[in-house]
Amino acid sequence: MIITDKFSRKLRDIRISVTDRCNFRCSYCMPKEIYDSNYKFFKKSEILSFEEIIRVTKILASFGVKKVRLTGGEPLLRKNIHLLVSELKKIKEIQDISMTSNGVLLSEKRAELLKDSGLNRITFSLDSLNDKRFQEISGSKYSSKDVLEGIANAKKAGFENIKINMVVKKNINDNDIIPMLEYFEGSGCIVRFIEFMDVGNVNLWDKRDVLILDDIIDIISKRYSIKSLQGNYKSEVAKRWSYAGGEFGIISSISKPFCGECSRVRLTAEGKLFTCLFASRSYDIKNLLRSSESDSSISNYLLDLWSERDDRYSETRMNQDDYKIIKKAEMSYIGG
Ligand code: SAM
Ligand code: SF4
Ligand code: SF4
Repeated sequence: MIITDKFSRKLRDIRISVTDRCNFRCSYCMPKEIYDSNYKFFKKSEILSFEEIIRVTKILASFGVKKVRLTGGEPLLRKNIHLLVSELKKIKEIQDISMTSNGVLLSEKRAELLKDSGLNRITFSLDSLNDKRFQEISGSKYSSKDVLEGIANAKKAGFENIKINMVVKKNINDNDIIPMLEYFEGSGCIVRFIEFMDVGNVNLWDKRDVLILDDIIDIISKRYSIKSLQGNYKSEVAKRWSYAGGEFGIISSISKPFCGECSRVRLTAEGKLFTCLFASRSYDIKNLLRSSESDSSISNYLLDLWSERDDRYSETRMNQDDYKIIKKAEMSYIGG
């Protein structure tokens, strides 16, 4: 059965956050000052087990979900994550399983395990190749070379169409845009520049820090001749261009929002479902899963909540005077 929301949008993708923990402290996501040694992350018993994740995904797959993205926090911190992948792979409706990771924990062995378990694609996050800036932004002691090693391990294991996400903040890493494109020239990897987004409340988002799509294009056009490409499919979040080195993309949630085709639902590690990245409201699925509710009653619940969905936050944020004070879920919690 295919279900649609109030704007006739189908449900096609689920992003599953498998942990709220991370080995980085990116300033735009988990600022160190907040996520310090006193911060209370979820206990193991509070987060969904693989069995619970599979149960929800199976129900959602019967409504049209075809794509799953594993995220976090850092998904590679979740022990035996490849076992979750191999169980997801058995759901016949699921056509594509991907992961977003900061990559530093992707050893050769783990990359092979994930590939053999059926993971289709990996997106790596990398905000600068310059180590000083990399460490400042990521709030970690790792080097950008550790991420590059993770990418190399993914390639060795046979992953193709690797994407590299770079969050761009004005006057912080705009100088890294060209080096990043140059580095990945001819590599087959697709760099995607992401406008700094006002997810959550702790990253002190200010629109003056956002380098918007048009500015990014200006910078790139001074170095490369570029050509706009057709989208691969309707709900694709990145706009695409070709350049001498291959392809790059821009995710412009702030300056050119894409709510019209948004087909995504998000499941947090502790089992809350969100119908929008910026929603204040969530739905407690864990309680249902841990009660005696049958699959069909959980199905009816999910059906109702998608039918009632009318989210289009990115299209309306600038009209709302209160966009800064609305309480929203943090990125490391909701999973991006
Ligand atoms: N830890 C993994 C990683 O960084 O790839 C997965 C989780 S992370 C929350 C998912 C994606 O969200 C990353 O590509 C990250 O760069 C992006 N992200 C986090 N906070 C953001 C923000 N405020 N604006 C734009 N993108 C953000
Ligand atoms: Fe961790 Fe990813 Fe957030 Fe950075 S963006 S702090 S790597 S969850
Ligand atoms: Fe989807 Fe919400 Fe983002 Fe719009 S703002 S694209 S509805 S997640």
